[in-house]
Amino acid sequence: MNITEIPVEGYEKVLQCHDSRSKLRAIISIHDTTLGPALGGMRMWPYQSQAEALLDANRLAQGMTYKAAVADIRHGGGKAVILGQAQTDKTADLLRAMGRFVHSLGGLYITGEDVGTTVEDMVLIRQETPYVAGLPRDMGSSGDPAPFTALGVFLGMQVCVQWALHTDSLQGLRIAIQGCGNVASQLCARLHAAGAELIVTDVIPEKAQRLAQQYDASVVAPEEIYDVPCEIYAPCALGGTLNDNTIPRLQCQTIAGSANNQCLGDEHGDALRQRGIVYAPDFVINAGGLINVAAEHEPGGYNEARVLAKVRNIARTLHRVLDTAQRWDISTQRAALQLAERTLAQQRLSRTA
Ligand code: NAD
Repeated sequence: MNITEIPVEGYEKVLQCHDSRSKLRAIISIHDTTLGPALGGMRMWPYQSQAEALLDANRLAQGMTYKAAVADIRHGGGKAVILGQAQTDKTADLLRAMGRFVHSLGGLYITGEDVGTTVEDMVLIRQETPYVAGLPRDMGSSGDPAPFTALGVFLGMQVCVQWALHTDSLQGLRIAIQGCGNVASQLCARLHAAGAELIVTDVIPEKAQRLAQQYDASVVAPEEIYDVPCEIYAPCALGGTLNDNTIPRLQCQTIAGSANNQCLGDEHGDALRQRGIVYAPDFVINAGGLINVAAEHEPGGYNEARVLAKVRNIARTLHRVLDTAQRWDISTQRAALQLAERTLAQQRLSRTA
């Protein structure tokens, strides 16, 4: 196994790994450990190049730093990416090699599931390293993070519609959901129960069809989701989908979804504000899963009641972000970044005091 460091400005440690036996090509990016060891999922995706994978790993790791900071989690930001197609390239050998790569960091980075990996994959990783969270409940771990992520996003949607539409109810509201994976499935169940009208899409049509049947949703083609007239647009697929091309097309009043790094750049948060769209910053409302896995490391061990209380606090944090954005006439994205940076700065100050 060949592990080499890639110097990246503003990042504590970025490593790439190549293991010819298992065909593993992967990157672990550790952005900031001011608040504690880096915690972040392991993504497997068919990146077109090493450069694309590196960019994604770094952006995701930075997002994790901010997510933990605003959710008051004593962890830093990190992320792992494996270059490859999950459906065809994922083998037990490859995952175990990845486990050894994680282990080589000695606990500076703790991994978990993400797009392209599952809780079952983490069980394999566990055979090589203890630095993995989100294992099945019957193994004494915190289990699938997706239901907790979905709860946070659902609460975020409620805050957004209170703010933008002055209603407490999602009944009859049209909600367009991009991506029909783990989080979206959980979210659709809640939204359907709340009486919302769902419009879904996925690049894998069967996944969209499955949710459509379960929750009486209508299906649109992936590229059409941006043009759907709706009250809430929920990006629950991949990042960077709020950009120069998509923002002018949006016909929603609010945006609240689970995907990480929805805004391609911070300037796209400004563009949403200019369009009068109330945007719930992703790293504020999608922290439920992180809160759940981080609870494994709390003194006294995992406690679901404490987790749920913390996830419910996401609504209060989002209110604070919306208030700050309004008061200072800035985007919600910039207000949330300020909140995260302030928490990190306070911690750095208390360390040096
Ligand atoms: P998932 O892999 O189960 O689902 C993602 C879905 O998006 C897949 O069905 C995929 O086919 C689809 N997709 C990809 N590109 C698409 C596109 N352009 N248009 C339409 N569909 C597309 O992943 P998940 O666990 O549900 O996570 C969804 C998002 O939420 C990811 O960005 C993830 O990083 C983020 N997130 C997840 C959690 C969690 O607890 N699982 C926590 C925080 C953030």
